[in-house]
Amino acid sequence: MADTTPRLTSVKDRITELANLAGSDQAERARRLAAELSAEIERAVEEASAPQANAAPPRQPSPRAPHQEVERCPVCSLRTFTFQKGSVRECADCESGYEAYYRCLSCAHEGWREIDR
Ligand SMILES: [Zn+2]
Repeated sequence: MADTTPRLTSVKDRITELANLAGSDQAERARRLAAELSAEIERAVEEASAPQANAAPPRQPSPRAPHQEVERCPVCSLRTFTFQKGSVRECADCESGYEAYYRCLSCAHEGWREIDR
């Protein structure tokens, strides 16, 4: 929609010109301007109502933290596998699209884990 303003300004300029011609002996030029104006306005309306092809798709905000911040450690099996704050990142292979970094407070095992949205 960035080009709407200059286009409308151009339309306004020609409306002014048309008004100046009205009642003069340049009836043909006035009719041509009127046709140009209506075509221009039709195009502008069409473009305004058409879906924006280059508009970014709505994007869900990335999660800040997993639902379960403490999980069972895959190595020592204690419930001390702890989410590291601020470690959420995008993950192309994950079903949810995100993974988070966990660190075990007991055995110090570390690893990425897919998170639920
Ligand atoms: Zn552990």
